[in-house]
Amino acid sequence: MGHCIFCEIAAGRAPASIVARDDRVCAFLDIQPVNPGHLLVVPVRHAASLADLNPEDGAHLFRVAQKLTAAVRHSAVRCEGVTLLLADGKAAGQEVFHVHLHVIPRFSEDGFGFRFGTGYSELPSREDLDRVAASIRAAIEDARPSA
Ligand code: 5GP
Ligand code: ZN
Repeated sequence: MGHCIFCEIAAGRAPASIVARDDRVCAFLDIQPVNPGHLLVVPVRHAASLADLNPEDGAHLFRVAQKLTAAVRHSAVRCEGVTLLLADGKAAGQEVFHVHLHVIPRFSEDGFGFRFGTGYSELPSREDLDRVAASIRAAIEDARPSA
């Protein structure tokens, strides 16, 4: 692995506005926030993608994100809702290849949102849904993350 900015931040070697840190995860403000209070929660131990993430680190990551969501809601930050977002892979929009969960404070008409592809409004049939579900079910055993 080459230089990783989130490893540097988690180790305290690069500047960041930290809000929480323990031996497993570190949470800090995003340098280019969608809205004020936008946080990133990262594992201290480097994992480029979800497949590389130790499941215990992943569980703790979510636990901390849940706690920080409550903290943001109770803080002075404008927050009427929260979007949790994790981009896994370039096609999903991942730009920093060290797993990070975004905690994004939201308010009405903040201008942020998802764009949907053409065809989104056409609902798939139950048969189509069942076929996709069967395919994913069959892959569950093979895709178990390594502990
Ligand atoms: P991604 O697109 O990979 O899900 O999101 C990467 C996020 O990391 C972006 O929101 C970006 O603003 C943030 N980011 C990139 N470099 C830095 C940095 O050096 N410090 C901080 N605090 N955030 C960063
Ligand atoms: Zn890293």
